[in-house]
Amino acid sequence: MARHIDILENPETAIAEATTTLAEGLPIGLPTETVYGLAADATNPAAIARIYETKGRPRFNPLICHMSDLAMAERYAVFDPISRKLAEAFWPGPLTLVLPLRPESGIHPLATAGLDTVGIRVPQGFAGALIRAFDRPLAAPSANTSGKISATSADHVDDDLGERISLILDAGASVVGVESTIVKVEDGEIRLLRPGGLAASEIERVAGKALKRKKKASAAIEAPGMLASHYAPGAAVRLDATDISANEALIRFGTPDIAGIERAIAVLDLSPSGDLSEAAANLFDFMKRADASGAVTIAFSHIPDEGLGEAINDRLRRAAAPRE
Ligand code: AMP
Ligand code: MG
Repeated sequence: MARHIDILENPETAIAEATTTLAEGLPIGLPTETVYGLAADATNPAAIARIYETKGRPRFNPLICHMSDLAMAERYAVFDPISRKLAEAFWPGPLTLVLPLRPESGIHPLATAGLDTVGIRVPQGFAGALIRAFDRPLAAPSANTSGKISATSADHVDDDLGERISLILDAGASVVGVESTIVKVEDGEIRLLRPGGLAASEIERVAGKALKRKKKASAAIEAPGMLASHYAPGAAVRLDATDISANEALIRFGTPDIAGIERAIAVLDLSPSGDLSEAAANLFDFMKRADASGAVTIAFSHIPDEGLGEAINDRLRRAAAPRE
C-alpha cells in the first residue's frame, strides 16, 4: 500500500511530502478535477520513465504536462491568439491545448514522445497549488495500469498501483470524472483531438467557430487515449442495450425501459435525472463496481452524444472495442 495524505486535512504535509517525492524523481498519485494522475517531474527523464514503468505502458506516448497557470505555460510553449483565448477562458479546467514547444524549454523529450509540440493543461485546485510549489511542470497520464479504467478516487489508484508507488494524495472523488478535452489550433482551425470533460460546445461558444473533428479511422495514430481498446474492464462491454441477459450488469442513464432488468446482477444509475455531468463523474467508478459484481458483460443503456455525452461515448466505445 502507498501512503495516503488527505489534502483537505493536511494540505501543508501533502505539499511538502509531494514536492520531496517528486524531487527524488518518483511519481505520485495526484488528484485533479478530471481523473487521478500519475504525476512526475516533466523535466526529469528518469521520473518520466518511471511513469511508463508504473503504468506498464508499452510505448512512449506524449504525456500531458500540467502547469500552475498560463504564465508558467508560456515559459514552455508558444501560444497563438486562439489558444490563448481558450486558456484564458477555461484554465484552470479540463482543457488541454497542444502547442509548439519552446526551444530549450526543459521539458524532456520522453514527456513529449520527441514531438515539437506539447500538450498542456492547468488543473483546478490542489494540483495547481502543488505545481506552483514545485515550480516545474508535471507530466501526468491517468493513474491506472495501461489500457484499464481510469482512476477517479485515491482508493482506485491504490488498488491498481499501490504496490508500485509510495505516495497518493487523496482529495476524494474527482468532480469531472473523465479526462480533459484535447484541442490543437492549426492554421486558425481548432481540431478536437479527444473529447473530454469540457464540452465541445463550450469551446465553440468562446472561439466563435466550429471544432474540426478527426475522422474516426485516423484517430488511433495521434493519441494513446485513442487506442481502440482502452478503459477496458475485465468484463465485456455492450452498448445501447435495451434488454438484459443472464450474467449481465446494467449501467443505465436516465430511466429507460430495459427488458429483463430483473435478471441483472447489478443495476447502477449514472444519473437518474439524465444529467450528463453527473454521469461523467460516476462513469469510471461504476464501471469498476459493475466489473466487481462478477458480471460477464456490462450492458450500458443509450447515452446521448451531446455535451459531455461525447466524451462518455468515446470512452465507452473504447471499453467495448475488441481487446488486443
Ligand atoms: P493520457 O496519457 O492517457 O492522459 O493521454 C494524453 C493524451 O494527450 C493523449 O491522447 C496524447 O496523445 C495527447 N497529447 C499529449 N501531448 C500531445 C501532443 N504534443 N500532440 C498530440 N497529442 C498529445
Ligand atoms: Mg489514461
